[in-house]
Amino acid sequence: MSTSTAVAESVWQAIESTHSVTDDQLFILNFIFGKNFERATRIVDQGGVRRISGHSSGRSVFQVVGESRRKEEYMCFAEHYCACYSFFYDIVNKGEQLCCKHQLAARLAASTGTCIDVKVSDEELALLLAKL
Ligand SMILES: [Zn+2]
Repeated sequence: MSTSTAVAESVWQAIESTHSVTDDQLFILNFIFGKNFERATRIVDQGGVRRISGHSSGRSVFQVVGESRRKEEYMCFAEHYCACYSFFYDIVNKGEQLCCKHQLAARLAASTGTCIDVKVSDEELALLLAKL
């Protein structure tokens, strides 16, 4: 794990434990993730993060809206994967970013308890994931 990933992880855990974000934490995340973090905070402010949880497994996936006017939605795992173009191009292909703005928005909303929780059956969740 890189140093910045480790620092970010400890900040996320601190936010998760208090469900609130201090200015210092915002500063650090902004320093590590730059513009993507700024964009993520805008998505969270707009209520653009949904956590879809399957009953009864409790497994979940995030659905995060994009910023463009078309308001497309991306299926996303906060730590490992996003279905957006930037994830494949900037992160997997070029290795220039740690994660995309949708993943950051998912993590931020989950940590602060501001995501919209949607419960579905495990079958419905499996169908959603099968489309990835
Ligand atoms: Zn993304």
